[in-house]
Amino acid sequence: MNYYLVAPAKSFHQSENLLTYESEAPLAVGQIVEIPLGKQSSIGIITESVKKPDFATKPISRVLYETPLPKQIIKAIFWLADYYRCPLSSIISAALPRGITKNRRAKAALADNPIFSPDADNPLNAQQKSAIKEIESNPANTVLLHGITGSGKTNVYIELAKHQLEAGKSVILLVPEIALTSQLVQNFQRFFKDVILLHSEQTEAVRHQLWQQALETDTPQIVIGPRSALFAPVKDLGLIIIDEAHEPAYHQDQNPKYSALRLASQMSKTVLGSATPLVSDYYVCKQHAAIISLDELAIKNDKSAEISVVDFKNRADFTRNRILSNQLIESIQRSLDAGQQSLIFHNRRGTAPLTICDKCGWQALCENCLLPLVLHADKYQLSCHTCGRHFPVPTACPECGNASIHHKGFGTKLIEEELRKLFPRAKIGRFDADTASDQQLNKVYTEVKNGGYDILVGTQMLAKGFDFPKLSTLGVIQADAGLNLPDFSSEERTYQLLTQVIGRANRGHQNSHIFIQTFQPDQKIIQFATSGNYADFYNYLLEKRHIAKLPPYTFLLKLSLKFKTEKATVTNAQKLFRQIQKIIRTDNLSQIYVTPPMPAFHEREHTGYTWQIIIKAKSRKNLVAIFDQLDKSSYLHYDFDPYTLL
Ligand code: ADP
Ligand code: ZN
Ligand code: ZN
Repeated sequence: MNYYLVAPAKSFHQSENLLTYESEAPLAVGQIVEIPLGKQSSIGIITESVKKPDFATKPISRVLYETPLPKQIIKAIFWLADYYRCPLSSIISAALPRGITKNRRAKAALADNPIFSPDADNPLNAQQKSAIKEIESNPANTVLLHGITGSGKTNVYIELAKHQLEAGKSVILLVPEIALTSQLVQNFQRFFKDVILLHSEQTEAVRHQLWQQALETDTPQIVIGPRSALFAPVKDLGLIIIDEAHEPAYHQDQNPKYSALRLASQMSKTVLGSATPLVSDYYVCKQHAAIISLDELAIKNDKSAEISVVDFKNRADFTRNRILSNQLIESIQRSLDAGQQSLIFHNRRGTAPLTICDKCGWQALCENCLLPLVLHADKYQLSCHTCGRHFPVPTACPECGNASIHHKGFGTKLIEEELRKLFPRAKIGRFDADTASDQQLNKVYTEVKNGGYDILVGTQMLAKGFDFPKLSTLGVIQADAGLNLPDFSSEERTYQLLTQVIGRANRGHQNSHIFIQTFQPDQKIIQFATSGNYADFYNYLLEKRHIAKLPPYTFLLKLSLKFKTEKATVTNAQKLFRQIQKIIRTDNLSQIYVTPPMPAFHEREHTGYTWQIIIKAKSRKNLVAIFDQLDKSSYLHYDFDPYTLL
């Protein structure tokens, strides 16, 4: 008889995470099996072969796949459990595809090495060549490719991937979910014959089949997908490439919470590609001398992009429209006359983000989330952008009966309406989460690329992975819109978004004019972004982080408590705070900073009240030591290395 430790995908009562089972036939570490668990059954992963224990064991019910999971996946599962203190079962459920016990005919395993065409159309330039050499020879495990928009990072990725395949190694390319239809992905698919493309729109059956294909193919593979593609069971993983590595999409904020960047670097050599890297990533890679820069455009040109900052407070510039400045309107007109395109960005969808009564101060809030409802005038309803519920627009104030209710602020739908009034003959399109969910992303993308629109209005979705060949006017409606959120990452996000948006017009197809409208023209972040100065931005933010004891100078743990009543929340938060202070005293831990309990940004919800405590620590080990000693309950939520503190 053989004995094995198995990590089950279902949670169970005993405190230890691994259970011992027996099997007549010898099995391998990494094999996925079905096991009896209490009165139920569960799938599980064999993690270790052990000696006969001194207690009775149950037999493994069946082996689901002959091929064991590759070792990087086993390593990832244990690392996640240890680093983020989350239950193995939740990680295993996330790491394996749904419906894994169903008997689906696997797609034929991929037979040959993918065949790639020679790179005749785009020979690498000198800068790209030397970047590839430096990346491959850099001893650091995580390397940052800091390349400006248009510097040709795609070709660098393709060449790196090609070298891996030639050496018999697999490659995983991560892209933010939104970029799955981007030129980057299309180029990879054009270049490599058999790319395994994973995304969230695929059915359970398709995802299961692709997963089996990756598991059962012996030859090296290229997998492209969002953060969860890290769990694709490819053989001999040689490299993980993370494009647009600053994107929040790489942080999973539900259990198991993790950063795909940190996880990737535990699994294989990792390349982070970005024009606007997170200051924390830049700081760490700089310390390891692992930053490689691409600072020239791949396609040189004498076309230029002129940037004008328009002060929103200067109403003389807004005589033709209250949202679109005269300069911007005139430039759109010039572009129209020349048969060229205009892009208008605003990071807020819907028509108006506030619906209020002027008389009594009543505000339309979501019944569920207690957050402001957004008017969508085309459907004439109020929508909650947090939970997605819709409500009718009241004809009078529900509080005081006042018949005139006001809709304040502006979103992409309102901007689209205004543009239609100003340019009745132009072909105007809108691209945001509302259109992307109504229509197929792919279809919109093709229309955009084929120049089917004269003017496009959209949220930051529009800024990612698109190339607009006929673009000559670009407008940012309110550049400071995200700056004033009370969060340590809001300046960084604003810089990234602005840089990305400006990058759309910097591709040098023709001279273009960029208008940045803002209430705060002197704000540092707006200045850094419009001058394209990453170094100044980095130094500025790093100093602030240093003073505020924030990453990269500390590690963060966000603890949230949520109870039905405010009193219970506050009492328990104070109790937790005292417990933390006691642990710090008893263990004599130093360089730990604990913020007293505070209401969370979204303090009140229909289901209760949330308060939070933030712990900052110089050493992550101390952070974990504190966490491990806390009283855990289902009221306590925790987030290591949170991306935001909201
Ligand atoms: P990034 O992702 O760094 O913003 P891309 O990879 O999209 O940039 O490349 C920008 C443009 O430059 C693309 O149109 C691409 O085809 C082109 N390009 C990249 N490398 C080369 C090269 N070596 N020679 C000619 N054109 C190139
Ligand atoms: Zn009222
Ligand atoms: Zn809601």
